[in-house]
Amino acid sequence: MLPERVTAALRGVPGPVCAYVYDTSVLRERVAAVRAAVPEGATVLYAVKANGTPGVVAALAEVADGLEVASGGELELAVRAGARHIAFSGPAKTDEELGAAIAAGATVNVESLLELRRLAALAGTAPAQAPPVRIALRVNRAGPTLPGSHRMTGVPTPFGLDISALDEAVALVRGQPRLDPVGFHLHAVSNNLDAPAHAAFIADALDWSRRAADRYGLRLREVNVGGGFGIDHTGMAHFDLGALRGALPGDVPLVFELGRFLATPAGWYAAEVLDLKRNHGRWFAVLRGGTHHFRLPAAWGYSHPFTVLPVPDWRYGFDRPEVRDVAVDAVGELCTPRDVLTRGQRVDRLRVGDVLVFGNAGGYGWDISHHDFLRHEYPRIVVI
Ligand SMILES: *Cc1c(COP(=O)(O)O)cnc(C)c1O
Repeated sequence: MLPERVTAALRGVPGPVCAYVYDTSVLRERVAAVRAAVPEGATVLYAVKANGTPGVVAALAEVADGLEVASGGELELAVRAGARHIAFSGPAKTDEELGAAIAAGATVNVESLLELRRLAALAGTAPAQAPPVRIALRVNRAGPTLPGSHRMTGVPTPFGLDISALDEAVALVRGQPRLDPVGFHLHAVSNNLDAPAHAAFIADALDWSRRAADRYGLRLREVNVGGGFGIDHTGMAHFDLGALRGALPGDVPLVFELGRFLATPAGWYAAEVLDLKRNHGRWFAVLRGGTHHFRLPAAWGYSHPFTVLPVPDWRYGFDRPEVRDVAVDAVGELCTPRDVLTRGQRVDRLRVGDVLVFGNAGGYGWDISHHDFLRHEYPRIVVI
């Protein structure tokens, strides 16, 4: 169940084991699979916020067409990783960040009228020979709705231009020779597992973009349909890339910005069992680690499955604590009852000193966690 490459990497980690392992060969496979499913000429970007580990970002900068960033820090990381193309999103860009985006030649996904005015002013101060700044207008359209979480459009959110602001945005862009409007940005949702629904959303986004571009007399050069391809962290369901193949129109170049779908299956979080205890009738495996490293299950309120990596060594002269054929809760080292990664997973055998390995931990794992709560040592980060 655990790839040999991953267990080999974990064997090199000194105990008590606490580590993330990221496998770049999985990252490459994920990008290749997406490319095979989307129309030729589509741009596949990696959304850095899913996992900003430099080794992960560097691998994806190489195999994807570029990187999508949402802060000055991510932009810097993308520039250092040598990304061929950078798209810059986010509703709170500072002048400094916009300036850095211009200097990096990024495409700016414009989120508000004020941002557009500020960007135009900054672009106006760039050297005369600098190319115009590529912009995509991010629009919060009404519908269509997609399953998934973190909906960003069709509902009130701080993301993108309200549809009622679009006339003014286009009028503003028209008066700005230093801005080059390439199309629209329509990222809608995260973690959608329904691929046919996603294909319909993309077709609709393209249709809407064509009509809007016609209405405004804009030459539509790309439509950024964002990210949102989902992963079921429990491994039960899959986003079926096959449902996209042949189902997406190829007449306007599409841009994808995928985070979770590329990064999540490429990561494993491993934590050694420090204690096994029974309390009010429930078994707890207490780990060297927890939700301050891997917050996702607690944040989303689900139970993340683990695999037991048996470790033969036992260094004490007394009996090694062990349970057989019981359900255990995998809990962390934090002094809060919410530090729970897994509830009630059956184990054949589990001993203190064994390591629990949580797959599908490469996206929104370490990066969204509250690392410094209780000041425990950070996990090792191993990129293979
Ligand atoms: C978070 C985000 C993404 C990536 O979303 P995933 O669900 O990880 O694919 C892409 N684009 C924008 C603008 C985002 O905010």
